[in-house]
Amino acid sequence: MSRLVVVSNRVSLPAKDGSPPAGGLAVALQAALEERGGAWMGWSGNTSALAESAALTLQQRDNITYALTDLTETDVEEYYHGFANRVLWPLCHYRMDLAEYGRKEMAGYFRVNRFFAQRLAPLIQPDDVLWIHDYHLIPLAAELRQMGIQNRIGFFLHIPWPPADLVVMMPAHQDIVRSLSHYDLVGFQTDYDLQNFVGYLRREEIGDDIGDGRFRSHGRVFRAGAYPISIETATFADFAKKAASNAMVRKARQSVEGRDLIIGVDRLDYSKGIIQRLDAFERFITTNPAYQNKVTFLQVTPKSRSEVPEYEQMQKMVAEQAGRINGAIGTVDWVPIRYINRSISRSVLAGLYRLAAVGFVTPLRDGMNLVAKEYVAAQDPERPGVLVLSRFAGSARELKGAVLVNPYDSEGTANAVAKALSMSVQERRERWRSMMDYLLDNDVMQWCDTFLQDLTMGQ
Ligand code: UDP
Repeated sequence: MSRLVVVSNRVSLPAKDGSPPAGGLAVALQAALEERGGAWMGWSGNTSALAESAALTLQQRDNITYALTDLTETDVEEYYHGFANRVLWPLCHYRMDLAEYGRKEMAGYFRVNRFFAQRLAPLIQPDDVLWIHDYHLIPLAAELRQMGIQNRIGFFLHIPWPPADLVVMMPAHQDIVRSLSHYDLVGFQTDYDLQNFVGYLRREEIGDDIGDGRFRSHGRVFRAGAYPISIETATFADFAKKAASNAMVRKARQSVEGRDLIIGVDRLDYSKGIIQRLDAFERFITTNPAYQNKVTFLQVTPKSRSEVPEYEQMQKMVAEQAGRINGAIGTVDWVPIRYINRSISRSVLAGLYRLAAVGFVTPLRDGMNLVAKEYVAAQDPERPGVLVLSRFAGSARELKGAVLVNPYDSEGTANAVAKALSMSVQERRERWRSMMDYLLDNDVMQWCDTFLQDLTMGQ
């Protein structure tokens, strides 16, 4: 079996005490690396003035080499904050209005990808299979090919791929898409993202669909497909069961005693639709007064990317909105919205999901949304809660037992919450069972195996 080399912007280093990594993706990639041996390379998260000349930091754990590189402050500003997070992220989440394109940032993005390639190339052995992750590293294969690397290289995009009309608004779109043709396999989250990508090739007349998921573009043949990412379903269900005895979960249970809990969990990001969700919750209460003092909406929103001005602004807006709604509809003995601005560990989250009668997951646009899958996995089979899910989350393509909503339609979303809270236990069980069976069959290990199988196919 070939060795595996994973590259992602950030590397998930194994814990010193041997405990499993925090997220499902890291669990799956680490399992694949352990099975095959290999390396995981990425940015250390640190900046140093001499990043170019400093050696890679290598850590060997059994048969896996973790290789970390520092970047300079200019690199981080241009590649990471600049192009990745202020151009590609908003564009791919359909928010071209928030994109701040600049040639300097774009040049920095390509420069850092070349730098990654230069650092990575000496670690690569002839039979290695390479798997590059996410929008930070789209040009990496093209840079490696220029250095003569002929290994099989796969790419997986964790975020959405938007329609051609949006992609062409980004001045660097041709360079970005040309870079993708240097991979052997390009993976998207859903069939919609794949269709958008194929639509772009057709519209720009730069690629042909030659059948069997294969495309010809820029003189190369590569495969592209939909590989919806998932969670470690059985383990997460187990976390949820065990979390009942966790102190924080017990306190949460006591504090909602006699009321239904509605839970929302999102990194603070404009793509998550948190403001619209708070509005919909307020509307739900005002149009369904019988639920006054009968529900608690817990919104967990750890900060992210606070160096980007939109995020800082959003944090203020969400806090103000939650405060305004609590002031408007709360009573002396009832705080309708609990807003937590800190990160909570996934094992505690699992317990909170299980307490909640409704998982309120309403992003305006999301590549997948793992919270939706975690909410399902965490439920008690006898008394499962109901997932209210945005049709614009990638997971809506799979989780057919959810109550789907359009988060731009506040009244429709409010009605969906009312429907979820009044659903019979039998219907809840039926909806949950179909989703849980699907998630047990399609967990993150299966995702990882399928992608790697397709990448190595015909090797
Ligand atoms: N998460 C967490 N603690 C928190 C909030 C979120 O561990 O306080 C985790 C959550 O359990 C999920 C991930 O962060 O595994 C978020 O993934 P998702 O795909 O929903 O959104 P992303 O943040 O990747 O856009």
